[in-house]
Amino acid sequence: MAVDPLIELRDVNKHYGTLHVLQDINLTVGRGEVVVIIGPSGSGKSTLCRTINRLETIESGTITLDGHPLPAEGKELAGLRAEVGMVFQSFNLFAHKTVLANVSLAQMKVRKRKREEADKRSRELLDRVGLAGQADKFPAQLSGGQQQRVAIARALAMNPKALLFDEPTSALDPEMINEVLEVMQQLARDGMTMVVVTHEMGFARSAANRVVFMADGRIIEDRAPEAFFTAPESDRARDFLSKIL
Ligand code: ADP
Ligand code: MG
Repeated sequence: MAVDPLIELRDVNKHYGTLHVLQDINLTVGRGEVVVIIGPSGSGKSTLCRTINRLETIESGTITLDGHPLPAEGKELAGLRAEVGMVFQSFNLFAHKTVLANVSLAQMKVRKRKREEADKRSRELLDRVGLAGQADKFPAQLSGGQQQRVAIARALAMNPKALLFDEPTSALDPEMINEVLEVMQQLARDGMTMVVVTHEMGFARSAANRVVFMADGRIIEDRAPEAFFTAPESDRARDFLSKIL
């Protein structure tokens, strides 16, 4: 069990109409922990990610971030939301802005940094994700793997307490997957708290502290990767693993 919880979900429930998309979700992510979420399509993984960031409302339960309950709305929510960065499958970069501007924008808007300060931080982070020299290009001039690394730099630029990744490599050509996973591995080694929805089982085995298996809106298993992959406890997980491994 995590000693120092950073993200805590307690008895979280959510419906889309009659679909009970999140059912009694209890999940703790400790500071510095990497939790990989896997499960069949439609099991609620993306909804869970968005819920952690309160991009989705919940009907019952509580979400706590670093000891603060996440409010449903309002100014306070915007502040707390900025503490958790999110990286999506589709990189969501601004096409008409340079790489540098993409990474600096939210720093200036949300963190109220001056342009010079934001740009300096952006360049440091672009360097860290292996994109020094690409700052003045536009997203379309970069490969998918490079664009996703810009998105990671942009998320890091906000100095988040945690990062959520929702299938960050699913839209990439196979030869670009590793360059993104390597950046994520490095973040994990540096102690970043991460929740990662992915089908990359190699990443789960090597970087995750825990694997959470979801099906039909429920957490079915929440265990160390080795234990999960070598001896899944549930039929659902066994069935899922047999299809993807
Ligand atoms: P996953 O990411 O595991 O594939 P999702 O969280 O995207 O699953 O979706 C879980 C279920 O909720 C699916 O059945 C999906 O069709 C449904 N769903 C997702 N978003 C919405 C929405 N905005 N409105 C209605 N149903 C939705
Ligand atoms: Mg999804």
